[in-house]
Amino acid sequence: MLENNYRPCEIESKWQKRWEEENTFKVDESGKGKKYYLLEMLPYPSGKIHMGHVRNYTIGDVQARFRMMNGVKVLHPMGWDAFGMPAENAAIKHGVHPAKWTYSNIDYMRGQLKRLGFSYDWSREFATCNPDYYRWEQQVFTELFEKGIAYKKTSQVNWCPSCNTVLANEQVVSGACWRCDCAVEMKSMSQWYLRITDYAEELLRNLDEKLAGWPERVKLMQKEWIGRSEGTYVDFPVEDSKEKIRVFTTRSDTLFGATFMCVACEHPLVQDALLSAANAVEIKNFLERSARIDHKARLEDRYEKDGVFTGKYCINPLTGSKMPVYAANFVLMDYGTGAVMSVPAHDQRDFEFAKKYNLPIVLVIEPVGEKLDVQTMTCAWQGDGILVNSGQFNGMKSNEAIAAITSNLKKEGRGDAAVTYRLKDWCVSRQRYWGAPIPIVYCDSCGTVAVPKDELPVRLPHDVKLSGEGGSPLAKCEKFVTTTCPGCGGRAKRETDTMDTFMESSWYMLRYASPHYDQGPVDAKMIEYWLPIDQYIGGIEHAVGHLIYFRYYTKLLRDLGYINLDEPCKNLMTQGMVYKDGAKMSKSKGNVVDPDDMIAKYGADTMRIFSLFAAPPEKDLEWNDQGVEGSYRFLVRVWRLVTDFIAGELKLADANDEMKRFMHKTIKKVTCDIERFHFNTAIASIMEWVNFLYGRASLGVDRQSIERLVLMTAPFAPHLAEELWKKLGHEEMTISVNWPAYDDSMISGDTMTIVIQINGKLRDKLEVAFGTPDEKIKELALQNAKVSEQLGGKTPQKVIYIPQKLVNIVA
Ligand SMILES: [Zn+2]
Ligand SMILES: [Zn+2]
Repeated sequence: MLENNYRPCEIESKWQKRWEEENTFKVDESGKGKKYYLLEMLPYPSGKIHMGHVRNYTIGDVQARFRMMNGVKVLHPMGWDAFGMPAENAAIKHGVHPAKWTYSNIDYMRGQLKRLGFSYDWSREFATCNPDYYRWEQQVFTELFEKGIAYKKTSQVNWCPSCNTVLANEQVVSGACWRCDCAVEMKSMSQWYLRITDYAEELLRNLDEKLAGWPERVKLMQKEWIGRSEGTYVDFPVEDSKEKIRVFTTRSDTLFGATFMCVACEHPLVQDALLSAANAVEIKNFLERSARIDHKARLEDRYEKDGVFTGKYCINPLTGSKMPVYAANFVLMDYGTGAVMSVPAHDQRDFEFAKKYNLPIVLVIEPVGEKLDVQTMTCAWQGDGILVNSGQFNGMKSNEAIAAITSNLKKEGRGDAAVTYRLKDWCVSRQRYWGAPIPIVYCDSCGTVAVPKDELPVRLPHDVKLSGEGGSPLAKCEKFVTTTCPGCGGRAKRETDTMDTFMESSWYMLRYASPHYDQGPVDAKMIEYWLPIDQYIGGIEHAVGHLIYFRYYTKLLRDLGYINLDEPCKNLMTQGMVYKDGAKMSKSKGNVVDPDDMIAKYGADTMRIFSLFAAPPEKDLEWNDQGVEGSYRFLVRVWRLVTDFIAGELKLADANDEMKRFMHKTIKKVTCDIERFHFNTAIASIMEWVNFLYGRASLGVDRQSIERLVLMTAPFAPHLAEELWKKLGHEEMTISVNWPAYDDSMISGDTMTIVIQINGKLRDKLEVAFGTPDEKIKELALQNAKVSEQLGGKTPQKVIYIPQKLVNIVA
């Protein structure tokens, strides 16, 4: 390290103390004036913050401080996603109570965040495991139960054998548990669900209509997850029965070619056949075989397609012909209706199944201008075409036939147009202790009853044995389970499942607007003022989990009448991950850098500069020690320049035009770059300004140039900036000083020279006006005569622009 008198540790603790004593970041509660709600995803109190947190929160902190200096009221809160399994696992392993473990982690991590100098309004802090918080969640749950939005049903659920609990679909990633990576099993269990599917259409529609400030990638992931598909439902009567088998298909044009039916193992018709069919033993064997297919193999489609005849037939509603009904291992009860009409000529899987079991294949679609023959076909024709063997619909094109056949089915009362979604209802109950109790009791005479509002919260009992074995810990807590029925006053039992912790994080962003409100979950007036979130920052891994749930929960609270808000968040930024030695930092890989060690060695300001300068926020960041050193050296350079100036060691001189122009240019660049999250280029511009001022040292610098430098550095390295600002003789802190303004007239007429390269070789230069947008510069480079000549009409693979320097065209 350089020998110098920059002492980050002393400076930093001094300013942190002053911010705390003066409540510097406590936001005005009047609910009036220009506001900005900046939020970073709330952390789980695992014990220590990691470099990913440092990066995430620093990105947010620069925005918050920048807005504050622009005179905006910034809500910048912090709290804790405090329920969850690690606390319980620690309890099982080390015998420490989950509450104690959680709260002591919170205390430690709060200290760490304070040591990084983040501008949080700590008066709004809360932990979601506090009954003052979860009581409102319980109240909302009882209201959802009364409206039928929260309901209990038995079905196949995702079960993690290592976490000993069910998981929501969103918590299963490639067949494995999101938390522990263990392979997920399927189990039939009775669980609580929220009817998120009722909101599928609005969740989808708003992506395009109301979330212009969200990354396209996240919106695309949500669209795929919601998975809307338009098609037709068709009812197939079961022979000699009043029953019907309902299917959903996007290809009703192939209905004349449906020659057999495949249903899921759990389909009621199969259960029925198990009791009555002549081949019941064969069916039983098949069901056992199917149950053994492992979940991962299923997801990766690595298992043999297998089926068994159920002894039953259904009738094709258009042809009137009998279709044998098979139980098939590739049909899932939870997906669609649990039954699939099989059209072997036009679906490859059905084709193979038909060949295997010697079932009829009927051709009903021919590609335009081509003849097909069922006898010689070696695979299914899955494309569009012209209908054949389809009665009155012969000669129609596929798309016309879909409409015509659907309307025919509707007329006959045998089907209709329908929309389905891939999204399934959200399973919200968990079989673990450390979560919010589900406020429901079971009574022999009254059935399932919600706990009345005035009896909430249902508190999580403190004295519970946690062994990690033998089912839900709450179920073994007699004192908790036994209660009286709110309906009849008789003996009743409490629900012993707890809520998915994603329930707590679905509305915390609303609670921050009025964190101490005791008349309901939120104060509508404060929601009106603060929401939606102006800028939300967090990881892409939440794209189809939390980021769907919090949108859904907002709509639930709206429809329960608590708030008047459709979407919780206007702008979203998903930051990249932190890597070291080419892998994501993790304890198991042994490549973790502890922020505490780094702060002790270099100071928080260096960590902040490094995490912003090393990569643009949305890209992954590769840890590198030289980068940290470099960030530290930059701060030392700022420190020296300003302290030398104060000590009178620099010559004092009025700024000439060149200097003024450079300064205004720099302010403009830094201002615009912060607004669009280009922190690395903003810092680069400040570095250039520092270099420029050093270069002027012998000629002389003026006070204003030095002061502007300090103010521009403030959002990035706030401790250093406050200290220098004070040394410059100011009483008030930089945070309450106006962000420096720039004068466009000083910059206009100023141009920059941009080098144009093709595959790294210099081809030409461009003169463009300062402040020309990046996209425009790329466009100009591509239009350049020498470039067109070199490219010879070919489209380049990539156009890379390094701001204010060069455009490299990769051909
Ligand atoms: Zn697990
Ligand atoms: Zn009762």
